[in-house]
Amino acid sequence: MTKKTLSVGDRIEARCTKCRKILNHTLVAMVEERPARVKCNTCGGEHNYKDPATAAQAKTSAPAKKRVSKTKKDSSNKAERQHWESIQSDMDQSTAINYAMDRHFNVGALISHPVFGLGLVEEAPGTDKIRVLFQDGKKLLRCAQSSHNRR
Ligand SMILES: [Zn+2]
Repeated sequence: MTKKTLSVGDRIEARCTKCRKILNHTLVAMVEERPARVKCNTCGGEHNYKDPATAAQAKTSAPAKKRVSKTKKDSSNKAERQHWESIQSDMDQSTAINYAMDRHFNVGALISHPVFGLGLVEEAPGTDKIRVLFQDGKKLLRCAQSSHNRR
């Protein structure tokens, strides 16, 4: 019925790769509308999100259907990729700030993410969220709220 839209910082049930159980996690990164990365509330480990249903299905050896909506995804990825390439030449890696959930990032900042690599903060859709353009697309990440009001 009503499909709740997830966002970074939400609690989500996922299979923890360490605890090997379905547990509560905190969503730390999104790709488009889907959860991409979660942090286990039990062991504190961060890992890629696996849908509990999909993970169970994967065990049945039937080869998964290839993603159908590929063309649509490709075109948006291509645009983002081109955008990435156009800004990449101006990037100075030495100015990149290591990404951490408890840090605040301003729009325009260059960040270095342990998984996604170098990224540019494009916008801040919420006080504690940033949308970052990485080489393989835009991702929504969680960040700390600004502690001092910059003026
Ligand atoms: Zn865990």
